[in-house]
Amino acid sequence: MSKRHLSQKNLSEIGTERIKRLLDLSEEAVRAGKDDRARRYVGIARAIGMKTRVRMPKDRPFCKGCLLPMMPGINCTVRLSDHRVISTCGKCGAIKRMPYLKEQRK
Ligand SMILES: [Zn+2]
Repeated sequence: MSKRHLSQKNLSEIGTERIKRLLDLSEEAVRAGKDDRARRYVGIARAIGMKTRVRMPKDRPFCKGCLLPMMPGINCTVRLSDHRVISTCGKCGAIKRMPYLKEQRK
């Protein structure tokens, strides 16, 4: 192996940082109306996630259909029903459902 060796911990830290940065850029791109660019950033973020074995952050949802970051009020609608948060992508219509049990136990 000619690659510089990094421990899994370091790799995860770098991956997490880069994913966050790319998702920031992606959201900026959506606000600027540049969806293609936004998709590319999300795509790169996912690739880094796979390479560094870092999960995509749950609080930064993106559409699995068209890879755009889901931003309520901008490109997706959010509804609550049956103990789930239902986000619908305004671009491709893909639906994402997330339970919100944690919030309910309060
Ligand atoms: Zn979509």
